[in-house]
Amino acid sequence: MASFTLHGIPVSRGIAIGRAHLLTPAALDVKHYLVPEEQLEAEVKRLQDAIAEVHRGLQALWTDLPRDAPTELGAFIDVHALILSDPLISEAPLDIIRSRHYNAEWALVTQIDELSAQFDEIEDEYLRERKADIQQVAERVLKVLMGTAQLQPAPVTTDAYQPQMIVVAHDISPADMLQFRDRSFIGFVTDVGGQNSHTAIVARSLDIPAAVGMSQASQLIEQDDWVIIDGDAGVVIANPSPLVLEQYRARQVTLQKARKKLLKLKKTPAITLDGTPITLLANIELPDDCPGALEQGAAGVGLFRSEFLFMGRAGHAHRIPTEDEQFEQYRKAVVAMKGRPVTIRTLDIGADKPLDQTEHTALNPALGLRAIRYCLAEPQLFLTQLRAILRASAYGKVRLLIPMLAHAFEIDQSLAMIEQAKAQLREAGHKFDEKVDVGAMIEIPAAALALPMFVRRMNFLSIGTNDLIQYTLAIDRVDYEVAHLYNPLHPAILQLIAMTISAGHKAGIDVAVCGEMAGDVKLTRLLLGMGLREFSMHPAQLLAVKQEILASDLTKITPQTRKILRAMEPAEIAEAVERLGV
Ligand code: PEP
Ligand code: MG
Repeated sequence: MASFTLHGIPVSRGIAIGRAHLLTPAALDVKHYLVPEEQLEAEVKRLQDAIAEVHRGLQALWTDLPRDAPTELGAFIDVHALILSDPLISEAPLDIIRSRHYNAEWALVTQIDELSAQFDEIEDEYLRERKADIQQVAERVLKVLMGTAQLQPAPVTTDAYQPQMIVVAHDISPADMLQFRDRSFIGFVTDVGGQNSHTAIVARSLDIPAAVGMSQASQLIEQDDWVIIDGDAGVVIANPSPLVLEQYRARQVTLQKARKKLLKLKKTPAITLDGTPITLLANIELPDDCPGALEQGAAGVGLFRSEFLFMGRAGHAHRIPTEDEQFEQYRKAVVAMKGRPVTIRTLDIGADKPLDQTEHTALNPALGLRAIRYCLAEPQLFLTQLRAILRASAYGKVRLLIPMLAHAFEIDQSLAMIEQAKAQLREAGHKFDEKVDVGAMIEIPAAALALPMFVRRMNFLSIGTNDLIQYTLAIDRVDYEVAHLYNPLHPAILQLIAMTISAGHKAGIDVAVCGEMAGDVKLTRLLLGMGLREFSMHPAQLLAVKQEILASDLTKITPQTRKILRAMEPAEIAEAVERLGV
């Protein structure tokens, strides 16, 4: 097989070497995990039971058919029953479970995808249309499966049934990415996507090499092809030659060694050469990320993206997690952080994080009813979340963070709703921290240009550079066609960040950066020079940033940064940033 190389956007560092596993959009909608050997027959039975239940359902439909029902309806039920009895549907997926260790849903969808591809080749239109029937039958079975208990995924081992697989897909939504947390896969490649899309952010937090914006990857790469992902360069090599494979394996080993070495810094306080202490916090998506954050020496959580608790809830009794369900999750994070502060951001739904995959109604979702705008339009949902977060504040230090604020009335309404949630809790006799700190994300240029409005009302600020860049430079963060315009060193961006840090400090309140810039070691000195003392990032980046801090001298960097902030030529800025502190 000929080797070829694709260039795209690097999103998550490191090198992954494995076999391609192509996932179609249909396959992405279901859970994927590998089933341990000893549970295979139970999984086979789960699928058999689901198929039997659909059979019974179809029979019941038949019996309940009114006498005057059109004949097509009966025929339609017959066709579905026939399809369901066909060994290609009722038996082939069982073999996939046994041979490839896929969970039932994944096995079924894999088989349906293979059948669908065969149907596409058929000339006869009547037969070709049966594809839709097959898919409908599969959906019936999937629906039943979703309601049944799922097995625990197999732990990642090097067993024969756990080949090192790399996902290749046209696109992966943040919610889909989230279900790969069990680490059945060692890397991700997608055709579309931007560097700071939430899909990329989740890949980074999983700390698994990934590259997006690979244009035709899902068409060019074939199932089971050998693939190398260079997550630092955004390069994907398919069918590499033995020599190239060897080179990358050697690089992989070097990188792993360097990472191991960094772990020695875990307990070292993050203090610059001139003695300035810096706070390094973690960004998390779910409470289960907390132990990993502590392992990397995080001083707390600077951004808990709570919206991930609201995603991928198909099959749950409630589409939106209840107050108690949320409270348990927030408390879990607070307890796991053992007294360290946990900054919980209220629901930032919308744009590339729809609550429901089918919800794509906004014309321009990034500029639409997103984050706090959505919450203020859904006061009951917002109050429920606020009560759940406040209740968790009885178990440790909690800070509330509000995303996407731009208007004074939005701040005031949010604060009023927090007061309302507190009053409700008092009435219900729940304990909470009466003095819980409330902060604003500064991620809309209008906010960065109207800081007095914020510092007057808020206890702290957190700069969301991902959106600040998206909105200032007018580039959709999910659109790979404009990804080359993403530039954190654009003078306008630097001005907005510097203004926010200095306005916050003048007002005596904390300012953090929690966007992806905080975890980029190439920008650590620049942010320090602007006066930043609080960084929040994916745990995987924390120690590398600490290493940079330990070698930084603010007495040198601060005046040099002042000069950079006066520069307006990108080349001049880029060069000066590289030389900072030297
Ligand atoms: C940001 O916008 O920089 C941020 C931290 O929030 P999110 O990436 O979740 O939009
Ligand atoms: Mg944001």
